[in-house]
Amino acid sequence: MQCVFCRIVRGELPSKRVYEDESFLAFHDIRPKMPVHILVIPKEHVALFSDYPDDESGERKLGALYRTANRIARQMGLEGYRLYAHVGEKGGQEVFHVHVHLLAES
Ligand code: AMP
Repeated sequence: MQCVFCRIVRGELPSKRVYEDESFLAFHDIRPKMPVHILVIPKEHVALFSDYPDDESGERKLGALYRTANRIARQMGLEGYRLYAHVGEKGGQEVFHVHVHLLAES
């Protein structure tokens, strides 16, 4: 699959990784908008947040994604941070593989 983030997961493209487990990967955004700008992604390819089913399995996967973002922020010792996601082209999404932006001053 040509998805950029899938290629990062497979190690075919370089990334500055900050966290990895069985299901998730986090790495520095290539064009940081704040001193800390991390992308947290599921290893499984899902294009849009809105593709997650509106049921317990979707709830589990979305919850686990945000829990992972919190875990990374905690491990980095961040006291305050922003978490956000773009959904769809009209929502400003450029890379069609689900990701949460984690941003902080330091
Ligand atoms: P979004 O608008 O939410 O789809 O944001 C996609 C983000 O991915 C942007 O902030 C890009 O700077 C970032 N990005 C794109 N390609 C890469 C890459 N190869 N490594 C790290 N970040 C990337």
